[in-house]
Amino acid sequence: ETAKSQHRDVIFRSKLPDIHIPKHLPLHSYCFQNISKFQSKPCLIDGPTGKVFTYADVEIAARKVAAGLHGIGIRQHETIMLLLPNSPEFVFAFLGASFLGATTTMANPFFTPAEVVKQAKASNSKLIVTQACYVEKVKDYAMENNVKVMCIDAPPDGCSHFSDLTQADERDVPEVEIGPDDVVALPYSSGTTGLPKGVMLTHKGLVTSVAQQVDGDNPNLYMHSDDVMICVLPLFHIYSLNSVLLCGLRVGAAILLVQKFEIGSFLGMMERYKVTIGPFAPPIVLAIAKSPVVDDYDLSAVRTVMSGAAPLGRELEEAARAKFPNAKLGQGYGMTEAGPLLAMCLAFAKEPFEIKSGTCGTVVRNAEMKIVDPETGDSLPCNQPGEICIRGDQIMKGYLNDPEATKRTIDNKGWLHTGDIGYIDDDDELFIVDRLKELIKYKGFQVAPAELEALLLNHPNISDAAVVPMKDESAGEVPVAFVVISNGSEITEVEVKQYISKQVVFYKRISRVFFTDSIPKATSGKILRKDLRARLADGIPN
Ligand code: AMP
Repeated sequence: ETAKSQHRDVIFRSKLPDIHIPKHLPLHSYCFQNISKFQSKPCLIDGPTGKVFTYADVEIAARKVAAGLHGIGIRQHETIMLLLPNSPEFVFAFLGASFLGATTTMANPFFTPAEVVKQAKASNSKLIVTQACYVEKVKDYAMENNVKVMCIDAPPDGCSHFSDLTQADERDVPEVEIGPDDVVALPYSSGTTGLPKGVMLTHKGLVTSVAQQVDGDNPNLYMHSDDVMICVLPLFHIYSLNSVLLCGLRVGAAILLVQKFEIGSFLGMMERYKVTIGPFAPPIVLAIAKSPVVDDYDLSAVRTVMSGAAPLGRELEEAARAKFPNAKLGQGYGMTEAGPLLAMCLAFAKEPFEIKSGTCGTVVRNAEMKIVDPETGDSLPCNQPGEICIRGDQIMKGYLNDPEATKRTIDNKGWLHTGDIGYIDDDDELFIVDRLKELIKYKGFQVAPAELEALLLNHPNISDAAVVPMKDESAGEVPVAFVVISNGSEITEVEVKQYISKQVVFYKRISRVFFTDSIPKATSGKILRKDLRARLADGIPN
């Protein structure tokens, strides 16, 4: 039976040939493999200060940090946490940990104390690198658990300065043997269901993913060493870490680090530094497409605009095209667990392919994709929508300390099930049409319904709750809650919202509350989210 069903699998591959991938190399060695060609070229440009770090500077800083981390007691296979906006120190710390064979987990600095502490604890982080203004969030936890805290700016009492690391001698990096399956990055994602989990991305996985984007006979696929990339998406999200930073390093591009998106200064920097590649998410594309001030800036250097992390509507795609006269615009499709890139737009290739509006690309090289019927698990042919599955060396090793969740996501034949519904057309182009999983995406940020439901259920006046996405023009989706009030008690919509907003980062705030008598559930106890989504679509939420 197994052999028979395997035989029936319809497997989709890239239109480009497979390439050789140096999978045995540790991530930092791979990224710096060609550094002799661009030693003195700008590598990082710090947007706010204009400070430039060459490739040689960055490599030495990373080695110093590795030696410094070792000096303060961080060892191979241990984890450090970065609670930072985009900054040169983020890059030095991530690469330094890689040199040491340690793992980096990244968290959003806007997280509430509870959210940060949860991740610090779950990842067993031994050090937190942050800014002075965020120290309060982790101070108590760090003190009680003997976790070190370092600041990249003037540290408050009890913390040390990041420069303690960069003052180390780069020759003191200890000799460590790093295996291809060692974990180098540990972003958090809720995946298809449940609470956020640590996604174990290995050296081999990230090397493979970067190679799939920029290596091989078609090296202009995405970028080259003359490119200037704007890094405005947060590096704590794997899209930016991988497709901007790591890809940029591999090819020798200049990476312009921007801390926050503010349209005027952002466009000013695009013009000043003659940015050639804009890796964006839909809210940034929307802001550019809608903003009249865009026409005041010279964006003629831009040759590639890439959008990912959430769906980009066709109209918006067309509107954005008009703003970048010399650029190709296309989408990429990623999922943290997939390493993250599954598909990318081949309009960026050296010999470009014609692409259709609305596609999120073609499966990456050295990987296999299939579309399966979510009910039967059967593999489907072209043009039939089903769950998108991917297999290849780039996908995660699994969820940290959660073999059950890992098994639910990666099946015994190595296929990662994305929880996204899509189809592949006759030209190998992938179109995403729906999301099977419960995940909500607010401007590309993950909101896990299970997390908000657990918080809601903690409230004494709430006896049951379910959180689902509602469409929203500017955010894409926002979380809304269906709430059952406990017998004999009272609570208002405003109270529910405030109760949640105190506990979560801004994008997880509940936008609407609908009171209801019961939450629809399957006999297994699983919330019938589809029914709730349908109620929203019908406009009769209660
Ligand atoms: P994350 O792990 O935070 O990157 O979220 C991954 C999810 O974002 C995917 O499983 C999709 O549901 C969604 N996503 C990412 N890229 C796209 C895209 N280009 N179009 C539609 N949805 C996307």
